Amino acid sequence: MWQLYKKHKHSRKKVINTSNCNGSVEQLCNNTEAKIFEVMFFSQDSSLCRPHLRCMQPCEKLNCSIRYLKRIIYYLDSAIHTLDICIYFFTFVDLAEAVIRAKNRNVVVRIILEDSMTHSDRSQLMNFYKEGIKPVFKELDVLVHHKFVIIDNNILLTGSINWTKTAFFGNFENVLVTNESAIVKPFVQEFERILTMFTATETKSENSDTQ
Ligand SMILES: [Zn+2]
Repeated sequence: MWQLYKKHKHSRKKVINTSNCNGSVEQLCNNTEAKIFEVMFFSQDSSLCRPHLRCMQPCEKLNCSIRYLKRIIYYLDSAIHTLDICIYFFTFVDLAEAVIRAKNRNVVVRIILEDSMTHSDRSQLMNFYKEGIKPVFKELDVLVHHKFVIIDNNILLTGSINWTKTAFFGNFENVLVTNESAIVKPFVQEFERILTMFTATETKSENSDTQ
């Protein structure tokens, strides 16, 4: 018990709460000691921030959707090695561009999507294909309803929000960002589990087609 207390006490010194958006993300990412615990809440007044999307300038609200969007893009732009995305519906061009930027700087990008949502005209699927990114999806009886992203197996973004403008500018949504390994590791394992399941099925299907 004392060990746990000491560990907790020690870790508390490293915690930097960035939920008020006044902290520097760059400093956090460069400091491997720093713990990231960040929460974003979107609500019905997020729609008021949508007109600012063109200039990408946040308004004075601490929970401005543009501010949150820029934070998420910053995290995506911080990826050095890997970017793993598992998301139900992905239509938001600004976020797709950040994913493509990662691919173009040789980050290994892996994406799992919900099959039924890839049929939408607004899905970024074709844009990813054009850029050499091949998202994985599989027709199932159930939905891939996840919304999580793992950066360099170290930073997790998860929550309710689909990567759509509707979600960012009008819905009640939440996003949690953390590099707490006890939380990140299970997500890493789950991403690998789903990816293996989907790609193994694809391989089996391809083989059976040739027989
Ligand atoms: Zn705003």
